[in-house]
Amino acid sequence: MIQVEKAREIILSQVKPLPKERVAITEMLGRYIAEDIVSGIDIPPNNNSAMDGYAIKHEDITGKDTCLRVIYTLAAGNVPKSALGHGEAVRIMTGALIPQGADTVVKREDTVESAERVVIKKVPNRGENVRLAGEDVRKGEVVLEKGTRMGPAQIGILASIKRLAAYCAQKPLVAILATGDEVIDIDEELSTGKIISSNSYTLVSLVKEAGAIPVYLGISKDNKKDLEEKLYAASRSDLIITSGGVSMGDYDMVKDLMKSGGNRMEFWQVEMKPGKPLAFGEINGIPAIGLPGNPVSSMVSFYQFARPAILKMMGSRNLLLPRVNARLRTEIRKKPDRRHYLRGIMKREKDGFIVYTTGPQGSGILSSMSMANCFIVVPKDRTHLETGETVTCEVIDASW
Ligand code: AMP
Ligand code: MG
Repeated sequence: MIQVEKAREIILSQVKPLPKERVAITEMLGRYIAEDIVSGIDIPPNNNSAMDGYAIKHEDITGKDTCLRVIYTLAAGNVPKSALGHGEAVRIMTGALIPQGADTVVKREDTVESAERVVIKKVPNRGENVRLAGEDVRKGEVVLEKGTRMGPAQIGILASIKRLAAYCAQKPLVAILATGDEVIDIDEELSTGKIISSNSYTLVSLVKEAGAIPVYLGISKDNKKDLEEKLYAASRSDLIITSGGVSMGDYDMVKDLMKSGGNRMEFWQVEMKPGKPLAFGEINGIPAIGLPGNPVSSMVSFYQFARPAILKMMGSRNLLLPRVNARLRTEIRKKPDRRHYLRGIMKREKDGFIVYTTGPQGSGILSSMSMANCFIVVPKDRTHLETGETVTCEVIDASW
């Protein structure tokens, strides 16, 4: 049995970022940029006005109620007609270029306007309401670092420096196979002894949520022949994820398959609960994560091991779930056997986060996952956590 961090380290050491491909900015949401992006221009490109008002020379303002002559009106997108002389002002709109000679903009609300004159009612600071060229982004500056997740703002940055496309790591194809003689698909008859493969659908969704492309291979019977046949279809994928068949039972064939032929089993069993019977290795030369069959175990293990592997392949810099401290609202008792990942509900309160468990924590109780927005991480050696203690939580849904 190995520790969670060690297991993750081994898995991550065997996957690498996929080759990069060009991605258009309209298709880039949720991808990870595979190059440092350097701006070829200043943003904004020129000094311009942050307000509707009057462009002036600061030194002309001798006190409250200075009166200046308005020489023309300047809209955004137009070139100033002429430079500003002493005692003059230009009526200027937001985003318009600052005329030569001007250094300050007085907003309209702070003036009294007449046909060709303006009276400045409030003395401005020098440079007020002027947006300087390059104050957002400087030419030559790295604006997005390799490995950055591309959200709306990052895509906006690319657009503003005229980049229509950029390199991102390819999306991994992740083959998903459920196993079990008792496991049937959603369209089959639920006869005695059978259960529906909920894992197939949670795993497809988890892979999509991580940003990769799931390839669902269906359900294999608990025999090596069927398993081998079904997994043959995975030979063009980047990662294989199976569910079930990795416990201590007589028919746990995924483990057997990993140990046979040219395949490889790197480790089996991780010191965590749920999720102990995890197997990792290689099948047909492709990294393979054998998740436990219990629905909760398979999800918890996915978050700890499969998600980081997928994110690494996608070129992400951050691979782990965000960790947040919260104050415990339920007492927790456990054996000092393994690290536990309890399903928790975190809530934001005035002075920080609180967290309580979702109720029964059996590894078959999928509703404990459906109610949870985090895992409460309880260290191996702890046996009793009291109400009010601060605990570490790994966030799976931050929409509190
Ligand atoms: P196993 O790891 O194959 O021993 O399975 C452990 C438990 O998980 C058993 O009770 C299975 O019935 C259940 N299980 C296995 N595969 C699935 C699946 N695809 N969907 C839902 N439950 C499953
Ligand atoms: Mg099974």
